[in-house]
Amino acid sequence: QPFADLGLIEPLNRAVADMGYEQPTPIQQKAVPAVLQGRDILAAAQTGTGKTAAYSLPLIQKISADKAPVQPKQVKALILAPTRELAAQIHENIRSYCRYTRVSSALVFGGVNIKPQTAALAGGVDILIATPGRLLDHAGQGNVDLSAVRYLVLDEADRMLDMGFIHDIRRILKLVPEKRQNLLFSATFSPDIRRLADTLLSDPVSVEI
Ligand code: AMP
Repeated sequence: QPFADLGLIEPLNRAVADMGYEQPTPIQQKAVPAVLQGRDILAAAQTGTGKTAAYSLPLIQKISADKAPVQPKQVKALILAPTRELAAQIHENIRSYCRYTRVSSALVFGGVNIKPQTAALAGGVDILIATPGRLLDHAGQGNVDLSAVRYLVLDEADRMLDMGFIHDIRRILKLVPEKRQNLLFSATFSPDIRRLADTLLSDPVSVEI
């Protein structure tokens, strides 16, 4: 199946062609149409399967289809990841995918000076990739407005729970609107992950590869 059959807009097809992607991976074939349709997703996926593009390409498309906002850019998609390495990798990919669009992104993670991140947030961004603790720091300092988040992604949700982020995640859920599309990616499915999926997802499409 060629990439062009996935229903993605030309600026995204061009960006993935630039990156040398010739055809969508199995998880992309299943997830992209479902995300474009607005469905919640519960996906079993390891790193290396192309999961980042599976959720970010359709989200970029949905955001770029929105009418230009009158308000300064507010965060529309929030992507939570367990580690700075994963968050940075997601951000790098998303920047490449956004190349031919006007969709912007920023990255925040802990363990480094907060000030440059605050400056990056001040201009307003469409997509924010974050580790949970540092996101709460920024929210507490009033650096970021999460009241317009419409898309929430939990990437490597099992690792986030293993690392003890469940309380941070619950706090973050209180800062975003209730009406939103939710995408949960996890390599493993413990009872804790199932419970989180039950509270987070509504009528999800299950994607297993
Ligand atoms: P991920 O599972 O999202 O960490 O992606 C693993 C690697 O596969 C990354 O280097 C991506 O750039 C690459 N990738 C993602 N989708 C495709 C594709 N359809 N064709 C070729 N490479 C891809």
